[in-house]
Amino acid sequence: WLHNTVQELKGNIRVFCRIRPLLEEEKREQEAISHLSVDTETCLLVDKLNSHALDETSSIRKADGDNKYEFNFDKIYGPWSTQESVFNELSQLVQSALDGYNVCIFAYGQTGSGKTYTMEGPEQPDETTQGVIPRAVLQIFKTTETLRSKGWQYGLEASFLEIYNEMIQDLLGDVKDNIKHEIRMVNKGSHDVMVTNLTVKAVTSPKQVHDLLRKASANRAVASTNCNERSSRSHSVFMLKIRGENPITGETSHGVLNLVDLAGSERLKESGSTGARLKETQAINKSLSSLGNVIMALANKEKHEPYRTSKLTHLLQNSLGGNSKTLMFVNISPREEHFGETLCSLRFATKVN
Ligand code: ADP
Ligand code: MG
Repeated sequence: WLHNTVQELKGNIRVFCRIRPLLEEEKREQEAISHLSVDTETCLLVDKLNSHALDETSSIRKADGDNKYEFNFDKIYGPWSTQESVFNELSQLVQSALDGYNVCIFAYGQTGSGKTYTMEGPEQPDETTQGVIPRAVLQIFKTTETLRSKGWQYGLEASFLEIYNEMIQDLLGDVKDNIKHEIRMVNKGSHDVMVTNLTVKAVTSPKQVHDLLRKASANRAVASTNCNERSSRSHSVFMLKIRGENPITGETSHGVLNLVDLAGSERLKESGSTGARLKETQAINKSLSSLGNVIMALANKEKHEPYRTSKLTHLLQNSLGGNSKTLMFVNISPREEHFGETLCSLRFATKVN
């Protein structure tokens, strides 16, 4: 009962914070993480150098006016947290997609803060280090297997795309084809959207999904030949459509699981850049702020969410709000030199929480 009440009040939106550990090579320049302390729900950021003393938006500072910033989240994972412990908290949400909900899980944060590690895993993942996408898929296969004995039959369809510069790139197709993709209504009057010419793969085993992930990362590598930083400047969206049907009971379910690795949130200065770089910067700033606005509008139960303001929110409009559940990870770096960006990320996440 209590759980349901909280759920309703929060409008099906959750925010989890995750702090990655210091990497081996970073330990040489910084011994420990002393400016950040966390417990299960509170994150305290201490500005030891007082470098943000003149910050105009200092309202989140603790009342005693010192240099501490306190943030609250639904859950916080410290640097010691394992991929398994993170996923344990998500398995309910993944189950919701099987039950017919539209589920979105986002990773938000500056480049290098652990978004891809959280969603996919490290470059060469194994069973312990693999991230949310492979774990979610594995859980879905296991559960559909069990439900089969109760008469349920499931069909799973995967697509994987990247949004770069407000343009959609199919990560499962042939990148060199240069096909244009548009977002369209599935049919008039419906809220369902589809992407034209997008590869949709029926999947029947976890192995197939691993192959798709590999194909996607190969495609991303090809696409990034002209822009090394492309992966940090684009959003990648893994979509799994789950259709269930039970001929014995006549029940059906139709859910979607969207797993989104967002573009780096580092504040990109529009002033210094020109041409293509400026356009790229504006595209990222626009889509991240419009995502924030949509989620805030949903949390405040406003009637008109500004979905059409970016490709990302337009694409996910049916998975944000309505019959949907949303979780955002705010990934942060433990490096002191990233203090300013960390503060910005935590503020963004608090706004949507
Ligand atoms: P992002 O996708 O936000 O740019 P990455 O996921 O690529 O960041 O992480 C940056 C580096 O930190 C990578 O080398 C990654 O393997 C490592 N890393 C991130 N999170 C963790 C973690 N929780 N545990 C161990 N290493 C991590
Ligand atoms: Mg990344």
